[in-house]
Amino acid sequence: MWRSKRLDLLPPYLFVEIDRNKRAAIAAGRDVIDFGVGDPDQPTPQFIIETMSKAIHLAKNHQYALGAGSPVFRETVASYFLKRFGVSLDPDGEVLGLLGSKEGIMHLPTGVIDPGDVVLIPEPGYPVYVGGTIFAGGECHTMPLRAENGWLPVLSDIPSEVLGRTKLMYLNYPNNPTSACATLSFFEEAVAFAREHGILIAQDAAYCDLYFDPSVKPASILQVEGAKEVAIELHSLSKTFNMTGWRVAFAVGNREALASLGKVKNNADSGIFGAIQEAAVVALSNLDHPEVVAQMESYRRRRDILVSALNGAGWDVTGPLATFYVWAKCPGGVDSMTVAKRILDEADTVVIPGAGFGPCGEGFVRFALTVDEERTREAGERIGKLVW
Ligand SMILES: *Cc1c(COP(=O)(O)O)cnc(C)c1O
Repeated sequence: MWRSKRLDLLPPYLFVEIDRNKRAAIAAGRDVIDFGVGDPDQPTPQFIIETMSKAIHLAKNHQYALGAGSPVFRETVASYFLKRFGVSLDPDGEVLGLLGSKEGIMHLPTGVIDPGDVVLIPEPGYPVYVGGTIFAGGECHTMPLRAENGWLPVLSDIPSEVLGRTKLMYLNYPNNPTSACATLSFFEEAVAFAREHGILIAQDAAYCDLYFDPSVKPASILQVEGAKEVAIELHSLSKTFNMTGWRVAFAVGNREALASLGKVKNNADSGIFGAIQEAAVVALSNLDHPEVVAQMESYRRRRDILVSALNGAGWDVTGPLATFYVWAKCPGGVDSMTVAKRILDEADTVVIPGAGFGPCGEGFVRFALTVDEERTREAGERIGKLVW
């Protein structure tokens, strides 16, 4: 009785079985290595914690932090953006603080679509794009991502009947779960498409500062000329700075869309804790801090250990250029559910079956590089013993 019809529209949670088996394995005392959750295992860098521990004592931080974020927070985001992407932003209207980008993704459709409007959703993808759309009464239209297209959507495949009703399109590069990166030319194509069809793009850039080759730094969609007319981009401190528990992120770009999202938020929350905003300012101003750089190097070493172990065992895996995910093609043409189940049952190791992110994820499993080097090596050895 106390359950809305909208809740029933949410797609079923496809990791239930893996979750259940994982808990059973741990309860049975097995030594489980978990590459499942995309949550950094390392602590937040010390310089950020120290800022927080001072800021927490200031009484001004104990009150509601209403609005888009403090002026210093918004100015810091603008400076970061200029330095990192060469894009200038007006801190007053083109920057909006979020309680994590998940929160922004969830509330955005409520601010910018009407019931019955279509939202274009990449698949495989982060489930919150669907959740936010459904809660706003929107209709999801999936954009299949496929290996042969570099895991980019083929925009010309979207039927014109659908386009006529479409208000919003989510993109996510660098991508979870596929780890694919978008080139600036894809973003140009997407912006041109959005302008032609009157669609707002929400590009989820949660992993844009988690990359391994500085010569191919992930781009911002706002680098495209005129992008601010049709796009916002969601950024998060969660992955870059090991701050998933802190809940701090921001959206940038189109003023009107941000005002609409801000209006929903004004009715739902009362801002980011002031002390966390101070910590975020210090984090964003220190992307090249040795602790942050060391963290990226550690993901790189884990990636190399895992990828060479899998390839040595006959898999055909390419290491990611960005994100902390290894999106591995299933060995021997076995389906992803079976691969994940056998790896758990026979190697006491958790990986996520690609099919759980949508039908186009079939044929792949996702490893999150959130396991230390020694345990990653151990998992590689265990998995290497399986015959497919
Ligand atoms: C982790 C992640 C986020 C970031 O979540 P926060 O709410 O900022 O912690 C957003 N999008 C994707 C695709 C993610 O994987």
